[in-house]
Amino acid sequence: MKTAVVTGGASGIGQAIARRLAADGHHVAALDLSDTEGGETADVTDPAAVAAALAAIRTRLGPVTILVNAAGLDGFKRFARLDFATWQRVIDVNLNGVFHCVQAVLPDMTAAGWGRIVNISSSSAQSGQPFMSHYVAAKSAVNGLTKALALELGPAGITVNAVPPGFIDTPMLRRAEERDLLGGSVEYHVERTPVRRVGRPEDIAAACSFLVSEEAGYITGQILGVNGGRNT
Ligand code: NAP
Repeated sequence: MKTAVVTGGASGIGQAIARRLAADGHHVAALDLSDTEGGETADVTDPAAVAAALAAIRTRLGPVTILVNAAGLDGFKRFARLDFATWQRVIDVNLNGVFHCVQAVLPDMTAAGWGRIVNISSSSAQSGQPFMSHYVAAKSAVNGLTKALALELGPAGITVNAVPPGFIDTPMLRRAEERDLLGGSVEYHVERTPVRRVGRPEDIAAACSFLVSEEAGYITGQILGVNGGRNT
């Protein structure tokens, strides 16, 4: 039994991951902007808030040796009209948030000689996505960071992998559908998805459950797409 922190654990994919890791027998704390039962409230872009949340979790549940970075913020804006503040906020949440959270848990993992980090990136980093240049840039950087950290932290017993989800039925996806930002309804895209269904948060949680397990110890620096075959 390990102690796991799941950022973005109050909603959608992060919530499913938190529930799955708890069902797997781990002590789990969500870290999110919103309050969750057994979790901590923090903005991942604020290093002091992240450090304070991690300290509270550590006191309650012990050293943190599993981190899943699922907090994320999407954005849809034609690049020519994208202002720098919006660009920066999306980079801040999706990329710098990962920086702050990994920095905060690294001492625990290093001391334990064991750690598992999973970064939830995005299939849009594989395929590109119009009007999401800031988001795609941030998520692509997360994939790169994953590979670099895997090489650097492997000798310390820490694996680092990324799961880029594609088309998962969460509040984020449905908000984008409501605003007609998906280039068609969810049902329209399902018809064009090889496995002919929308992804479920539990699909991502299952991949995370495996990647943080003991038996996944020889897997690091990998980008494991979970997207129903939309990106191969
Ligand atoms: P979601 O339902 O909107 O969940 C994201 C969670 O992250 C929310 O609880 C949100 O809080 C939280 N969050 C946002 N900014 C934060 C911050 N600065 N600090 C702490 N928490 C913050 O979205 P989701 O679809 O589950 O997405 C989870 C992850 O998967 C994200 O990284 C997303 O980019 C990625 N992803 C999703 C899909 C998909 O198809 N759904 C596809 C590709 C990638 P609030 O609700 O209070 O803002």
